This record gives sequence, structure tokens and C-alpha cells, in this order.
Amino acid sequence: MPFRAFAILFTISALSAYSEEPVDLSVIHRIKAEALENSKVMDHVFYLTDVNGPRLTNSPGFKSAGDWVVKRLQDYGLTNVHEESWGPFGRGWNYTRFAGHMLEPAYAPLIGFPLAWSPGTQGPVEADAIYAPLTDDADLEKFKGKLRGKIVLSTKSRDLAMPTDPPGRRLTDAELSPTIDPGRLPDLFRPLGPAQTPEQLKRTAFRNKVNQFLKDEGALVVLQSGNIGDAGIVFGQAGGSRDPKDPVPPPMVMVTPEHYNRVVRLLDHNIPVKLAFDIQAQFIDSPTDSFNVVGEIEGGRKKDEIVMLGAHLDSWHGGTGATDNATGSAVAIEAVRILKTLNLKMDRTVRVALWGGEEQGLLGSKAYVTQHFADRESMQPKPEYFKLSAYYNDDTGTGRFRGIVAPGNDEVQPIFAEWLKPFNDLGATAVTRVTSPSNPRPGSTDHTSFDYVGLPGFNFLQDPMDYSTRTHHSNMDLYDRVQPGDMMQCAAIMAAFVYNTAMRPQMMPRVPMPKALPADKQTTK
Ligand SMILES: [Zn+2]
Repeated sequence: MPFRAFAILFTISALSAYSEEPVDLSVIHRIKAEALENSKVMDHVFYLTDVNGPRLTNSPGFKSAGDWVVKRLQDYGLTNVHEESWGPFGRGWNYTRFAGHMLEPAYAPLIGFPLAWSPGTQGPVEADAIYAPLTDDADLEKFKGKLRGKIVLSTKSRDLAMPTDPPGRRLTDAELSPTIDPGRLPDLFRPLGPAQTPEQLKRTAFRNKVNQFLKDEGALVVLQSGNIGDAGIVFGQAGGSRDPKDPVPPPMVMVTPEHYNRVVRLLDHNIPVKLAFDIQAQFIDSPTDSFNVVGEIEGGRKKDEIVMLGAHLDSWHGGTGATDNATGSAVAIEAVRILKTLNLKMDRTVRVALWGGEEQGLLGSKAYVTQHFADRESMQPKPEYFKLSAYYNDDTGTGRFRGIVAPGNDEVQPIFAEWLKPFNDLGATAVTRVTSPSNPRPGSTDHTSFDYVGLPGFNFLQDPMDYSTRTHHSNMDLYDRVQPGDMMQCAAIMAAFVYNTAMRPQMMPRVPMPKALPADKQTTK
């Protein structure tokens, strides 16, 4: 590589005041050229969404998507490609038909979809609607004996404000250079907590109670309208539980709030409403384990040291899981394709992982971290714990990378700042959350599973686009919402960061290894 020495000389003059962090600009140029001129990233998105989506963990789509990823990584020449099992996950779930209608007082089709882990109807059903929002124990008492054979509207109707903000946007300059208000520091530096907060446990318990109540009361179908979304965009996740010990609710449907509100207004005027549904849904009892897809590009002289990149493969089921998270999966696949296609010789082994069960609580990545690196409760690290240089995650939609989040790791700040420089003109400039602590428990997405045990895990900072307004867990999370140019930029940066990490003389700096959890914090995982 004749250009390499030259590039090092060239970049030495531009070193930061903090550390020597040479970047091989000739390689970065080749990565950029491959990512921007020969991109396959939207082809990966197509197969993950239109062909194999949605990919709810342990549904047929998840399995076929996993098999497709294995084949594609093998085609690109990765080695040790496999579906690595973890578990138990619980029951799988899938739906194969949905139709919803208002029949009386006037006909209208209903926009919506079934909530996961709720059963189908036994063929087409029709019945009177009743508005019975169930928010606390008093509501259960109030509607006892009144729901049998009815289609129950079980959430509160919601006023829909006029939307005046554009649905999609990019980060502003002010958002890219945030400063932490010292007043917030006591909040930020919270003590380490158990894996689930008491509020989360309470919510799950109440959901199970309501599901048992609706079942015991003989509700025919349960209708909900979410607390976000409008104009035909329906955000919905699970209605029942993947744990076979939990109660199975009646068939549950999430509909667009305009349709929901119309039914509620009619009922408020004492005008009877007849609704009809035809839902086919299946619980899948075997296998109870799930899997992550893992593959490698073997390294050279430090091949026992590892650089990881990844994203979650699984999705929710209302759309095809395009921006959550076919985008991240496609960027990871594209990044290893670029590195392989350019035939770059790398010192460390590059390992890509596409996780299952992220949407149910980062289950796949947490299981992987426990199996390969360390169990957070005991903190007795395995040999691989000391061989992982860094993990890079992509899971915040389709927006281009504007930088990287480095929670509580001051030492990586100057390194990342240097690595971002060749991408400054593509809008990636920020290294954020350097001073804030890492998460007190795994949350948000899969890099926190690494962070939780003291391993360097990072997620990229992305433009929000229309993630929260239109796509995140919605029926409109579809291929068309994915932005090709942004995806190409993401893949170039992902490939560059992985390359730099694989070639850096030292492994990435880490925060001190955390201590084992005290006995009273060792609760649910
Ligand atoms: Zn996600």
C-alpha cells in the first residue's frame, strides 16, 4: 500500500492537541468511492422490507430475513456466518389477514392492524361497539358485566391538534453542539438500577390484568387508538405477551385516531355503531429460542482482537420495519460489503451482528454480551471481554450520520473527532454526550448492552427525519421512507469507523470495568 505512508505523513500535520490519531485518507477515499458510486445499500433495504418484512422476532419474516442475510454475507465472502441462537424468547406471533369495517350507521373501512400477541377472530365477526376506556382499577369495576360480545374501545379518545410542524426534519446547528446544563447533572448521574424500573413492572402487571379482565368479560374484539399518530398513520406494538404464562387477550386492533374518534362521537350521541373484523393471527410455540445473525471478516496479525458493528434485524409488524431497523441492518451489511469488496487488509477481525429481540428489550444483544463477554450481575469477564475493541450500532432511522454518541468516554472524543473529519463535508461533525454518563441500565438500543458491562459501545447520531412522526413502529414504516443518499453516507462512515478501529495501533480506550451488581439490584434481566 504505497499511499498509506504518504497519508500518515500528510495527516500528522493535522493532529489534534490530544493524541496522535492518523487517518489513512487514501483508504477513506476508496471507502467513500465504493459507498457512493457502487452502493448496494437500497438493494439490502429492498430485500429486508419488501421481500422479507415485517420481521417480528420469531415470525416467519424474521426467519426468512435471517436466512437471506446469511446468504448475502456468505456471497460477499464473510466467514463463520451463522444464526447464533439465544433464548428463551417465548412464543412467536404472526398475522396473515386483517380487515376492519364500520357497518352502521354508515359504511366505512377502518385503517389499522392487529396488535402483536393477540389472537385472530374465528372467521369474520360483527358486533356493537362500546366505549370503555380502561385506565385504572376503577374503570375495570365500572365496566364489569357490560362488555360481553361487544367490540370494546378500550383507550381514551384523543383530541387531534392541527399539525403545523413539517413531518420530517434534520438536526439544527444548535442541536449538534449541545452543552450539558450543570443543573441536570444530579439527574444524569443516577445510581445504577435494576434492569426493569418499578414503573415498567407496574405497567406490565396492569396490562396483564386488563387482558385477563377483557377475556373474562367476553369482549369480542378490543379496539385501541394510540397516543401518537394521526392521518392514517397508526403506531402499534404488542397487545398480549410472548410469555405463554401471561393471559391471552381477545383479538386486539390499533386503528387511526380519526376512525376511532368517529365511533366514539357516534356512541356519545347514543347512536349505535356496528363494527366488523376478520383477523387471522397465529401463535408460534416452537422454537422458543431466537437468534442473532453473525459473520466475520478475519483479521491479520491481531485477528484474535475484534471490532463489532451491527443493528437489530427484528421489527414491529404494522409496516415492514424499514426505518426500524432495515436501515441499520442494511448499513451494517453494506459496510462489510465495502470492506470486503475493496479487499482491505485489516489487523483485527471485523464481526457483524444483526440482533433479534431488540424490540422486546434488547434481548439478542444482551444475550450475546452475556455469552461472549460478561454477565452484568456477576461481572466475571470472559476472555473475549478483553479482545473487543469497540461495537458500533445503527438504530435511529434513515437520517444521515451527523456524528457519534460517546456516552461518558472522554478518551474517545479526540479519536472520533479526527475520524469524522473526512466526513465533515457530508454533515458528520459531532461527538456528543462525552461528559454524560453511560446508561444506568440497557435501554434505547443495542450498543447499551455493551456499554452496560463497560465495553465501548457507540450509536451514531442521526438526523431525525420523519422517524417519530411517521415511521417508528407504524404501518407506514415502509421502503419509500428510506432516503438513499443518507443511507450511502451512513454506510461510508460505518465502514470507515470499523476500518480505523481494526487498524488502530491500540484497542479503543474503555471506561473502568463496572463492579458486580449488589444483591438487591440483581433482579430481572
Ligand atoms: Zn430499532
